[in-house]
Amino acid sequence: MIVILGGGISGLSAAFELKKAGKEFILLEANKQVGGQIQSSQKQDFTLEHGPNTVLVNNPEIKKIIEDLGLWDELIFPDEKASSNRFVLKNGNIEPFPSGLGKMLKSNLFSISTLLCVLREPFNSSKSATDDESLGALVERRLGKQILDDFVTPFVTGIYAGDPYKMSAKYTMNVLKEAEENHGSIVKGAFKIIKAKKLENEKFGLPKQKIFTFKNGLQHLITVLRTKVEKEIQWEANCTKIEFSDQQYIIYYKQNGEQQSIIASKVIAALPAFTLAELVHNFAFGLSSHLEQIKYVPAMAVHLGFQSKNMAFSEKAFGILSRNAEKVPFLGVLFNSHFFPHTAPQGKDLITVICGGVRYPEIVEKSDQEVLEEIGSCLADLLGISGGFELTNIVRWKQGIPQYDIGYSKIEADIDLYLGAHHNFKIAANYYKGISVSDCVKNGSLAAQSFI
Ligand SMILES: Cc1cc2nc3c(=O)[nH]c(=O)nc-3n(C[C@H](O)[C@H](O)[C@H](O)COP(=O)(O)OP(=O)(O)OC[C@H]3O[C@@H](n4cnc5c(N)ncnc54)[C@H](O)[C@@H]3O)c2cc1C
Repeated sequence: MIVILGGGISGLSAAFELKKAGKEFILLEANKQVGGQIQSSQKQDFTLEHGPNTVLVNNPEIKKIIEDLGLWDELIFPDEKASSNRFVLKNGNIEPFPSGLGKMLKSNLFSISTLLCVLREPFNSSKSATDDESLGALVERRLGKQILDDFVTPFVTGIYAGDPYKMSAKYTMNVLKEAEENHGSIVKGAFKIIKAKKLENEKFGLPKQKIFTFKNGLQHLITVLRTKVEKEIQWEANCTKIEFSDQQYIIYYKQNGEQQSIIASKVIAALPAFTLAELVHNFAFGLSSHLEQIKYVPAMAVHLGFQSKNMAFSEKAFGILSRNAEKVPFLGVLFNSHFFPHTAPQGKDLITVICGGVRYPEIVEKSDQEVLEEIGSCLADLLGISGGFELTNIVRWKQGIPQYDIGYSKIEADIDLYLGAHHNFKIAANYYKGISVSDCVKNGSLAAQSFI
């Protein structure tokens, strides 16, 4: 029997793959619902995303799952103009965020000396003293502090909510590290790598317009996946311990107040690192202590809905990223109803304000009223929103986003070592081999395939 632990997108992707292959399995999920961080809701005719807002079709596994579930025709791609119109907050002003070198040279964001530093980068002969350099150190060394502060930090904060001086360059923006290593220059190499990736994507038939959602939000993907594996799910089955003996795994879980157990010959662990660390503590102490080292930072989504005519900011935009120096209480703002117009009723706008991260973790501990006062007044001032908000909603993820920090390569090597010696135990989760939803689909599918 194969047992999957956790029914987030990683566990569900593994389950679907096993189901297609006719394999017997059980999925243990602690909650009454599956999907983990992928949750959408409808409130006052607005469509709200509690976790991810967009998913990328950037690998063959995510394309395949959409095809196999018959969902291609239901994908909603963003408004092209809005999705390419991105901004960054600089000295309190909302400035266009350049999408390429050409736009960067014309942008008001950067000083002449910074632009010269970018143009001279191919001749920069500096080298890192370590193989595990931080993203901050790499970018500052090659492109200068301003590119780090005004360009790279806002961008990666929008994904990892982390500190670029702690984040491992290799695991968070490997394209830059690879460019330097293989081409001697980020400016020269990154273009080549991105071009090669585009060609590879075309080979796999991946669409050009790559981010999508569904009419009622991303949870639709979960709902459809759930219907395919419903019979195999044990609901409210909270795994408490795993034992390993005679090449078998005994998984203990609590369900309806009762202690249950199941014997598995093979396991796919699709749980957060800190949960798995506790479960395997007694038989895989080394693995457990490495998993414990993976830090998570809190994240919070604050949804605000209002009359479109009440907002002075007139651009059709994807979002605004914030720099560390801005001292605003958010990491980024998404203009959901601009790039996905169906997410708000006619004449209204929906924005999602992402807060927390290493920059301001305490905000997730504040009361709803405190959060709305702080975020609401900041956004009303910044975007010129008058007349108040018709809709407010807050979602907290206290252990939201795993950090791929410096030192992660050692953690990964130790996890790999354990998995290499235990072929019947797989890990598929967002702290291992990629954080995005499409990474999770890929890793869940591959873990299952290795058992087929
Ligand atoms: C606010 C936010 C915004 C994001 N935005 C994006 C985005 O725009 N695009 C993108 O690609 N990614 C985004 N991400 C990242 C992405 O959503 C996640 O990395 C991904 O959904 C994680 O999936 P997972 O299955 O690995 O883990 P999870 O979703 O955490 O699922 C783990 C599952 O395990 C279950 N579980 C936990 N403990 C136990 C136990 N003891 N026993 C049984 N079951 C248990 C949980 O209930 C859950 O169902 C975002 C994340 C957050 C928090």
